[in-house]
Amino acid sequence: MLESDFAILVYGVVVGFSFFGIWFFYDQRDHRRFEKERRKVTFHCIRCSGIYSESRGTSFCSCPMCGHENGRLRF
Ligand SMILES: [Zn+2]
Repeated sequence: MLESDFAILVYGVVVGFSFFGIWFFYDQRDHRRFEKERRKVTFHCIRCSGIYSESRGTSFCSCPMCGHENGRLRF
């Protein structure tokens, strides 16, 4: 009887940590996706008036519509 109780306890702990691990993995993944999507730099093309965005860390970027290189939009 004691061995089966121990086995049930070990099973419960393993299942609990598995769910915790899965939750932690997906939470971190979603957080990274959200931050990557949120942190973008906006550019305004002075040639064709287009507005576009690129990932963070770039100060200059070529316009996807006309190819003119623009500086980042500052407010
Ligand atoms: Zn343009």
